[in-house]
Amino acid sequence: MTDPSPPAAVAPPSPAHAALSSLPWQQRFAHLGADFVAPIAPAPLPEPYWVGQSGALAQSLGLPPGWATADSALQALTGNQLLPGSAMVASVYSGHQFGVWAGQLGDGRACLLGELAGQEIQLKGAGPTPFSRRGDGRAVLRSAIREFLCSEAMHGLGIPTTRALCVTGSDATIWRETAETAAVVARVAPSFIRFGHFEHFSKREQIPQLQALADFVIDHYYPQCRDATGANPYLALLGEVSRKTAELLAHWQAVGFCHGVMNSDNMSILGLTLDYGPFQFLDAFAPGHICNHSDTEGRYAFSEQPNMAYWNLYCLTDALMPLIGDEDAATEAVDTYRAHFQAASQLCLAKKMGLDQADPRQKALTDMLLPMLAADQVDYTIFWRRLSHWAARMDDEDYSVMDLFVNRQQMQTWQYAFESMHKGMGTTDISARMLRANPKFVLRNYMAQEAIAAAQAKDFSVLAQLQTVLENPFDEHPAHERWAGFAPDWAASIAVSCSS
Ligand code: AMP
Ligand code: MG
Repeated sequence: MTDPSPPAAVAPPSPAHAALSSLPWQQRFAHLGADFVAPIAPAPLPEPYWVGQSGALAQSLGLPPGWATADSALQALTGNQLLPGSAMVASVYSGHQFGVWAGQLGDGRACLLGELAGQEIQLKGAGPTPFSRRGDGRAVLRSAIREFLCSEAMHGLGIPTTRALCVTGSDATIWRETAETAAVVARVAPSFIRFGHFEHFSKREQIPQLQALADFVIDHYYPQCRDATGANPYLALLGEVSRKTAELLAHWQAVGFCHGVMNSDNMSILGLTLDYGPFQFLDAFAPGHICNHSDTEGRYAFSEQPNMAYWNLYCLTDALMPLIGDEDAATEAVDTYRAHFQAASQLCLAKKMGLDQADPRQKALTDMLLPMLAADQVDYTIFWRRLSHWAARMDDEDYSVMDLFVNRQQMQTWQYAFESMHKGMGTTDISARMLRANPKFVLRNYMAQEAIAAAQAKDFSVLAQLQTVLENPFDEHPAHERWAGFAPDWAASIAVSCSS
């Protein structure tokens, strides 16, 4: 009998691996139970590789230094295997899509791993779930990169959003209109609960579950809704969500962001920008712009977004009625959306104009300005940035803003009015404030497209470069000037749809 061969030398686990194995995962949402979540088994993607990571976010979640060097992190964040303490569950929700009740939807390609540092980590594209319906449970590299970059861009802009920790890719083929390759985005948010979660239980008259969900949301995210007076906490919740949603929409409109698919299942109960699909930042200011090629009626056109949010809040109101009871009080709570939206919009525009708070003169200036931007199809981001620089001297000989307009005379008159509003204030301060409110960089479609094309050829440097400027979009970044210009003509041919 021959001696057994000695065991192959096994490399000792790296310190990062050891730390990843003992992360303090929590499973608060999953503990709501089987009516809310279904377990998923890993459906591994072959030979995953890193596409991009957000180092600052990783740090805030408590991931150990060097985490991305550990194979266990790559496998776990692709959904191929679990880290100890994490789990894989998909949640059930329903919703209204394009104004029509769609019934049960659910996390068809998202799975929740658990929470770290109070933040849920969800993988999008990690494989089929009990809610995949006819879908494959996957995401393609193109859409994963768009979601990753835009999440971080919105965060950089100071707009409430789900975040993105990383994207991993695999050469596995995924079929959309053509063959593409697979990717997984690890998204991060305090909660991914949607209006549609409430609609789901309410429509099925599962009132104890509806109440358990509302209590969960209040206890964890809106504790102020339970006040000492004993007033109905669900009514207070509706009021708070209406306010948060109004603030979110004010930000979107002020920065020129089109979401593209504002279905009630894509509306966050925390007022976060959620589910990045066919989104677009406006190039030329066009109120009627429709960014989603699947939205043939223009339901979610740029200028319609505030109304659509209000419509969705009515879906939420309807869903919460069994807990609120009083229809008049519910209507009053949800209708606060209008005033909150107006106030938040005016505040955003005041800041864009270098003021600390809304001012009637600034409202008049805005009302005059927006039709001018639309008529001359002026680039929205570049206009505000140039105006911010111009405001440092308000020099009659500086034509940088006027040059954006066909009707130069009208713009000159507007600039005089702007100047007179600021009379008596230090112009440098005004300019400095405006430069902090008007980004130099937004994620235009063509920029995402360039990052995608490079990544498809395994070059992730464009993505990393965009990440640098978008994480700090108010800074100058002289080395990356090329991303601050007008969109190239070919950008007009980019078609984004719900296909992702
Ligand atoms: P969305 O338009 O991305 O908000 O998705 C609407 C619904 O379709 C959600 O329930 C998604 O989980 C589901 N869904 C979208 N794409 C897929 C896919 N490839 N596989 C499974 N479910 C999907
Ligand atoms: Mg969705």
